[in-house]
Amino acid sequence: GAIPNDSVMKDVDGRVRAIACTHGHLDHIGAISKLAHKYRAPIIGTPFTADLIKQEIEAEKLQGTKNEVVTMNAGRRRQIAPDIELEFIRVQHSIVDCVFAAIHTPKGVILYANDFKMDRSPTLGQPPDFARLKKLESEGVLALITETTNAGVSGKTPSEQIAKDLVWDVLMGTEETKSGVLMTTFSSHIARIRAIIEAAHEMGRKPVLLGRSMEKYWGTAKRVGYAPKSNDLAVYGRRKSVDKFFKRMMQEGKDKYLPIMTGHQGEPGAVLSRVANGETDYQLESGDKVVFSAGIIPQPLNKSSRHIVETKLKMRGARVYDNVHVSGHACVE
Ligand SMILES: [Zn+2]
Repeated sequence: GAIPNDSVMKDVDGRVRAIACTHGHLDHIGAISKLAHKYRAPIIGTPFTADLIKQEIEAEKLQGTKNEVVTMNAGRRRQIAPDIELEFIRVQHSIVDCVFAAIHTPKGVILYANDFKMDRSPTLGQPPDFARLKKLESEGVLALITETTNAGVSGKTPSEQIAKDLVWDVLMGTEETKSGVLMTTFSSHIARIRAIIEAAHEMGRKPVLLGRSMEKYWGTAKRVGYAPKSNDLAVYGRRKSVDKFFKRMMQEGKDKYLPIMTGHQGEPGAVLSRVANGETDYQLESGDKVVFSAGIIPQPLNKSSRHIVETKLKMRGARVYDNVHVSGHACVE
């Protein structure tokens, strides 16, 4: 979880043998760097997740966390106690390398299925391992512990392939080839960022990643093989380098670049918010497009921040394309 509160552990018998993480979203790994040091147990995640956890631990020096961070791929098992094994089963979500965690006990299997979508045509990685899930059923599942944000929504969450089509439709469906286009999306959503990068190349514009978290997640994706290792793509994390880039973009022409930036939830201080506030050299003008390849996280603060940034962008003449996005969370299906 994101909130470092493990008081529930007081009522649990036995010893913590492993801390297993199904994916790298901060509401799943954010508290590890604050709590893991209290347990003598390894932290286990898939390569992308484990790399993010290591970065969280490094950034939180206060606790001096010494737990071993173990990388385990989807489809693999590991013994965590004499009679208990942990297995990772591949699924899809809005972040790469997401898994279900199956705990094999002498009495049967406990399956944790938290945050996932049943995407049969993902644009990055493989579809969920349906064959393994079916087989697991025959091994005897004692309990399925599941949660998805859209659990109360009827219908099916569209595939990431649909999101890619939506992005391409918005970016290609224009004759105004000289105006500026600014994109914003989840920096941890590597599949989406790659779709936008491909579209940028098709438009003849240079894709550029802007913002600290873009730098963090893209760097991680490169390290573990979910993004090309080449340095062709410009990535500017620090504020100074972002500002320098915007200066250059204004000099060379808005139609030369497609910046992909942080700030899709209207977060103050994020690159898009600074553009909307006129704090950078980027001059928004009539005809410029701002594309949100992200939904609004259903929290009052997010809703109001996003409304504020969209209003500011529109007041400066931008055309806002909202919700060019599909969710990473399964519906009722
Ligand atoms: Zn998630």
